[in-house]
Amino acid sequence: MPRDQNQSFSGGVKDELVRLPLGKSCCQLSEIGALTRTSGNLHFRSGGVLTVTYRLEHTGAARRLFQLLKTRLQVSPVLHYTQSPRLGGRRTWVLSLDEADSRALLIALHMAETDENGRMTIRRTVPRHPLTRQCCRRAFLRAAFLGAGTMSNPEKSYHLEWRAEDDRLADTLRQLLERSEMPGLSYQRKGKTVVCLKRAEQVSGMLALMGAHGSVLKMENIRVNRQTRLRANRAANCDEHNSERMLDASQKQIQACRDISLRVGLFTLPPALREMARVRMENPSLSLAELGAAMDPPLSKSAVNHRLRRLTEIAENLE
Ligand SMILES: [Zn+2]
Repeated sequence: MPRDQNQSFSGGVKDELVRLPLGKSCCQLSEIGALTRTSGNLHFRSGGVLTVTYRLEHTGAARRLFQLLKTRLQVSPVLHYTQSPRLGGRRTWVLSLDEADSRALLIALHMAETDENGRMTIRRTVPRHPLTRQCCRRAFLRAAFLGAGTMSNPEKSYHLEWRAEDDRLADTLRQLLERSEMPGLSYQRKGKTVVCLKRAEQVSGMLALMGAHGSVLKMENIRVNRQTRLRANRAANCDEHNSERMLDASQKQIQACRDISLRVGLFTLPPALREMARVRMENPSLSLAELGAAMDPPLSKSAVNHRLRRLTEIAENLE
């Protein structure tokens, strides 16, 4: 499938999202927070001077962020764009904040605090407000999608993802998805964590959650057509069914590993199971045989199955 086909669906979702009303004051701050963590950069200069710039590819997203900063924080960024010949002339929008505006932004987002001398220090903790209110969770996921998200054309596959710049953002995204009852899968790509949804209901549910209702309809149409075509081909239908079932099982196994990790730590497992848990969590889409091949030394399918069952049992007995 040509790349622009993929981009057109994803781009269409973004076009729809940026036209939504800016919403409540709490949600505006959540959107600014998400865009800061996906597309913002801190620049440290001598004398403790700190400034923030944003880089965004989607024009509407840059415009929305500009509006949000002005409306919610009375901050006036300078907006311009760069065009890189290296990236096929793709345009990147840059929003730059001066020192005073950067300071106001970081304090509003609870990302920084000032000491008694007025010196600003960056906090390592993740701002808590987007996690507590449902409206803000949606706003955060939406803006994070505008800043770092993409989805494949549903004609081709069901896949919606966020590229997390750092592990803390990946954790936040996973928590938000879990609270929205759409547990995400995550894996490493080029040293960055990608958090994604891979099932049709989840992808469509996420579009609705973010407020892209027109895109939900478009996707449902494509899905119906696709299912009709699949039904015409029993073999293909079978594959689809099997791979959905496999991903279901994979998600359950990953959840088991995560439960163990959160409650008692993976280090409490025997080395063989610990390694199995690591490889499973890093490769949500691999089949049992493929997982076995990914192990060092390689394992048979039935050995992989046995170990994953052990992990699931351990997780079930944690209560
Ligand atoms: Zn809110």
